[in-house]
Amino acid sequence: DAQYAEGQKLDRNSGQKDGKGNVLVSVRVRPDVGPSDARIQGEWMVDGRRSLVSYKGKEGGEYYYDNVFTTHDHNAKVYDSAAKRLVRRVMEGYHGTVFAYGMTGTGKTFSMQGTTTSPGVIPLAITDIFSYIRETPHREFLLRVSYLEIYNEKIHDLLAMPTGGSLGGPGTPQQEEIKLREDKKRGVYATPLKEEIVQSPTQLLRVIARGDHARRTSSTQWNARSSRSHAVVQIVVESRERNVGGGALDNRRKAIVPGGVLVSTLSLIDLAGSERAAESKERRTEGAHINKSLLTLGTVIAKLSGDKDKQGNPTDKDGKHLPYRDSKLTRLLQPALSGNSLVSILCTIQIGGSTSIALANSHTVETLNTLKFASRAKNNIVSHAKKAEEAHGGGGDAGSRALLDRYRVEIS
Ligand code: ADP
Ligand code: MG
Repeated sequence: DAQYAEGQKLDRNSGQKDGKGNVLVSVRVRPDVGPSDARIQGEWMVDGRRSLVSYKGKEGGEYYYDNVFTTHDHNAKVYDSAAKRLVRRVMEGYHGTVFAYGMTGTGKTFSMQGTTTSPGVIPLAITDIFSYIRETPHREFLLRVSYLEIYNEKIHDLLAMPTGGSLGGPGTPQQEEIKLREDKKRGVYATPLKEEIVQSPTQLLRVIARGDHARRTSSTQWNARSSRSHAVVQIVVESRERNVGGGALDNRRKAIVPGGVLVSTLSLIDLAGSERAAESKERRTEGAHINKSLLTLGTVIAKLSGDKDKQGNPTDKDGKHLPYRDSKLTRLLQPALSGNSLVSILCTIQIGGSTSIALANSHTVETLNTLKFASRAKNNIVSHAKKAEEAHGGGGDAGSRALLDRYRVEIS
């Protein structure tokens, strides 16, 4: 079928599920006309069983992913297939990032946060983190959480907001500017950024709820702002063997690791609406603001090849360095997007039905853009996850050191 000739067929056995790859790409279709497992909607066809989305119209194609969630699938299923394994691996010492990508209104926040009756990726991950700690009594853990927002290329600390404060609206007191720094041991990090040590699921959920609250109440145009900003929850997990007196045997390395502290980060990211990326292209000439972070994320993903230069820095296929430094989001996520991390990208779409976003035609274009973004991510991010280990009591500034010595998570 000529119409399908351009379609992308992905190696369906290269996914994260069988442990070969570290990048998982899923597409979730938001319900609007009632549940169906294999749905034909106009020129669209969604088949969850075959993990396929296809479009017969202009520039259409057949798109296969690791998962395609239909309108049947609840948040619990999405979490189990798209995030659960990654969360476990973070507990074992690997960096992991879950992105929700898609146009406004397609279910990014619904997937990440969920509702009280149908919790999303964030609360389900929190439950799993503490189950893992309970099941792993021979290791001790320290958890700390931060929650930031990137809006107009400025980073705002959602946990450092005074009550009734403002995220940099006109005429309101500004927070101290948050900068991104780089440190050999710690990688890229935001500073000054509040990190709260948490010792129970309730406490962790409460901290995140506080950040959500700050995000909402600080903005008079909450909806417009939320569709243009990236919300980044980061949970840093430190762990080491109990009672080993300064050294731990790492079986995989067959060596005594001084201190043996593993430090890894779980990043849970609700991205700005992807329609902003396209919109900003038109707006660039007007000089209005560009969602630089989303555009750069697209560029980095499109260029990632998994190649490295002599210093081990990632390059594209032509040996050129990737533009991580062009935006706050890609800079912050550089470790996650340079192959040293597990990545799960959950792309949300809505097909058919009525949409309040835009005319049907541009909606289709945006949906296809989301599917193409998802395909590029699948083909290009080559991830070789390495355990993020930190020698005990090493140099660097105080923030770069493991804190496990000073605080303990006591799970009762
Ligand atoms: P986004 O964050 O991508 O802008 P939302 O997550 O806010 O979109 O979703 C828009 C609306 O659609 C919300 O009212 C949300 O509850 C609802 N919604 C989105 N996805 C689903 C889903 N899979 N099942 C039920 N309701 C959904
Ligand atoms: Mg949202």
